Amino acid sequence: MENESVILHKNKDKAIRNRHHWIFSGAVKSFPPGFENGSILGVRSFEGEHLGYAYFNEKCSIAGRMISFDETLPLEAIKKSIKDAIALRQQLYDEKTNAFRLVNGEGDNLPGLVVDRYADVLVIQITTLGMEKLKPFLVEALTEKFSPRCIYEKSNLPSRREEGLADFEGLLAGEMVNTVEISENGVRFLVELPGSQKTGFFLDQREMRKLVRSHSRGRRALDCFSYTGGFSVYALAGGATNVDLVDTSEKALALARQNLKLNGFEGEANHFYVADVFEFLRQQELSYDFVILDPPAFAKKKTDVMQACRGYKDINRLVFQKVPGRSFVLTFSCSFFVDEALFQKVVFQAASDAKRNVRIIQRHHLACDHPISIYHPESDYLKGFLLYID
Ligand code: SAH
Repeated sequence: MENESVILHKNKDKAIRNRHHWIFSGAVKSFPPGFENGSILGVRSFEGEHLGYAYFNEKCSIAGRMISFDETLPLEAIKKSIKDAIALRQQLYDEKTNAFRLVNGEGDNLPGLVVDRYADVLVIQITTLGMEKLKPFLVEALTEKFSPRCIYEKSNLPSRREEGLADFEGLLAGEMVNTVEISENGVRFLVELPGSQKTGFFLDQREMRKLVRSHSRGRRALDCFSYTGGFSVYALAGGATNVDLVDTSEKALALARQNLKLNGFEGEANHFYVADVFEFLRQQELSYDFVILDPPAFAKKKTDVMQACRGYKDINRLVFQKVPGRSFVLTFSCSFFVDEALFQKVVFQAASDAKRNVRIIQRHHLACDHPISIYHPESDYLKGFLLYID
């Protein structure tokens, strides 16, 4: 491995020394001869100092991603990172919660890899060729640590295309599991593996679901972009009188219905609307005093930001205009390109247009099983406000 190193251009080692994982193609002076895309190489500064190990793909603007920042050999470093990731989660969750993100990419020193635990099932997501090549090793390491009932891969993300990877979804190890029941803060959910969104469940909102539970007593709740009913079940568990759920996905709502039932909430009072939230908010009266707005990322790239902000403003304005006084509104943006300051401006404009007094009573970010390396703020995407409308 000694001679198989990438050499960086002069003064292009600073980010790496700061433990940032990414090596942009412009920073690379030379690849070793015969190097194959996706393989792991040493990384050296222009002056020849060894900085660690990264896997590389010449086709990508992010040509390399660091997996070790010292002499630790790559596979050893990966094993250690998995072990460290598990150790953190063991300190975060008790037996009431058996679903969480075990590995959060760069935030756990494992760029290109996400591993979510759903009870005795692991779902992995791979976004880079380098990680793809490590798949057999990862499956073995995870099997050794967890002996899971199955390891299922859900790698269907547009970012794989730049890496030259097609989407992939399927069983990697163990027996096929279509639906798994999880427990989160004592609340139960069914998570579907094939065909579901993300890796099956929106784990990043766990702390917010808990917040919803603690503020729902006696409230009429509206769960917009409800997916499989995460917020709705918690609202009912917290004593909400009823919940209405709105999502364009009939499949997600069918599972939401099952999730309500699983927790003993079957009443006639709850309604499931297969509908576009924008239209729903325009058409309905909105006699709710707890509204949740958790849309998908409206800005998938930088150039989408303006359009995305218009979308965020529309839904927030419609809610502010129509809800009665003394209502809670929990509003989110999970677009990386819309940062918290910008999102707050959008909410300001929506409030101002609606001519309502709106106050932030709590701010929200990613749940703690989604750690963000201080050196790698690029993994931070979720921001939300709990608002009180006078
Ligand atoms: N709040 C959910 C996650 C929301 S993900 C949870 O905590 O589990 C976003 C959801 O919005 C998806 O289920 C998707 O089907 C839905 N969606 C996307 N665009 C929509 C639209 N215009 N109207 C209604 N639902 C939409």
